[in-house]
Amino acid sequence: MILRRLSESVYCILGGEKEANIGFMVGKSGVLVIDTTFSPYHATLVLKQIRSVTQKPIKYVFNTHYHSDHTFGNQVFSAKVVASRECKKIMTTLLEKEWSKESIQKWVEENPEWKEKLANLKVTLPDVIFDEEFEIDLGNLKVNLKHLGGHTEDSSIAYIPSSKVLFAGDLVFQGRYPYTKDGNVQRWLSALKTIQLMDFEVLVPGHGFLCHSQDVEHLIGYFENLLGNCREFIQEKQPFAEIVKRKEFLKFARRNVNRHQENIRKVCAELTQGEKIEK
Ligand SMILES: [Zn+2]
Repeated sequence: MILRRLSESVYCILGGEKEANIGFMVGKSGVLVIDTTFSPYHATLVLKQIRSVTQKPIKYVFNTHYHSDHTFGNQVFSAKVVASRECKKIMTTLLEKEWSKESIQKWVEENPEWKEKLANLKVTLPDVIFDEEFEIDLGNLKVNLKHLGGHTEDSSIAYIPSSKVLFAGDLVFQGRYPYTKDGNVQRWLSALKTIQLMDFEVLVPGHGFLCHSQDVEHLIGYFENLLGNCREFIQEKQPFAEIVKRKEFLKFARRNVNRHQENIRKVCAELTQGEKIEK
């Protein structure tokens, strides 16, 4: 976890290899935290970092989307949790199934290294809900939230106009192939085009290092190529193996290349609405 100051009152904590990035900003009336890591244990480490900067009360937590590596630390901050209506809806459904006490208990038994980290987990649902846009006012600091969808149905971003910092959540992955399984790539592409038009100087991605507008362009290029090549594959029945190897994709990121293959399958399924794809 690396703490970075992005402007006078806006900070991020970069998660490194596996963990999601966290944001926080300090206003006159208190602190807003963006995303909360995948366990109360990790969130406690985040809180420590925040306390090395300010003692002001943590007033709000904003969840960019429901994925557990962004929401499972909510409880640690004892703050109002803000999220899109979709986010609350999905989290509520998950609490009945994949996130029920029994399911998490079972998962921990299979992954004992998580036992202590998730020991006191109490999934904390959002209690301040917005539909498309919302403004959080921290006294002298305003933060605009916007629901865009794409990476997941509930994906949202946070923008601080006074410092031109944008927290994109998992709508932007840096240095690795994006995770598309729970989303819609066509909607994701249009969300990225919205982001590209915004007036930001620094963009904090959900995973990876700090980004600028060329990184968003790079990701747009990846998705456009992905959609174009998958359309070709479907129409002309090009061999799947050839599409996977195309060099414009291999330039994108050296890491997690198998995720790229999953993305091709995902896009083909989207374009054919689930028809079986030849491998
Ligand atoms: Zn995610």
